Amino acid sequence: APFSIGLTGGIGSGKTTVANLFGELGAAIIDTDAIAHQLTVPGGAAIAAIRTSFGDDFITAEGAMDRAKMRAHVFTDVDARKQLESILHPLIRSETARAAAEARGDYLIFVVPLLVESQQWRNRTSRILVVDCSEEVQISRVMQRNAMSRAQVEAIMAAQATRAERLAAADDVIENNLDTTALIPQIAALYARYLSLAKTNSG
Ligand code: ATP
Repeated sequence: APFSIGLTGGIGSGKTTVANLFGELGAAIIDTDAIAHQLTVPGGAAIAAIRTSFGDDFITAEGAMDRAKMRAHVFTDVDARKQLESILHPLIRSETARAAAEARGDYLIFVVPLLVESQQWRNRTSRILVVDCSEEVQISRVMQRNAMSRAQVEAIMAAQATRAERLAAADDVIENNLDTTALIPQIAALYARYLSLAKTNSG
């Protein structure tokens, strides 16, 4: 496999912010969340299978998956969650592979929110880069961005790997407790390091 980085971090840790900065320097960014989202917009590749499995109730008038309704449904029903995953995961895999094959850049960075939780993703990436911040910073950023309560953010965090689990899995860590200018030197250093690894390493 070609040299690739798996970029991860908890909700609101700054994955997208960091990925954008790597992209500006010349890395090819593949955002698996965006790919997953595209599957369930109107005309998305997963819509027909979702309609067949879950019924018209889970499809909006515009033809998208009803995300709020589906989220509530799979939250309380493990079989439904498995069924939805069995629809989405193969499509995410194939769309991600297609995006990777088409990508042009110095090297590939896959942005994967639940990378540490996924053995498949851990096997497929050469290095794991974790964006880290304190839980307090994380909570306040997500509350502000999504207009969520503290309890809502904490519930999402409870369903993800812990900060300690992510750090234990990390090959490299970007610290994102401060303002975004503090990211620049960290990303510049890692960018150069990955470039030399990509040249000497095929995976
Ligand atoms: P998610 O997992 O929810 O997709 P993410 O890990 O991709 O989130 P971002 O979207 O990059 O995180 O950042 C979360 C929020 O915090 C955004 O509103 C972003 O603008 C803000 N943010 C990120 N880093 C910083 C920073 N260093 N200083 C201030 N705000 C920041």
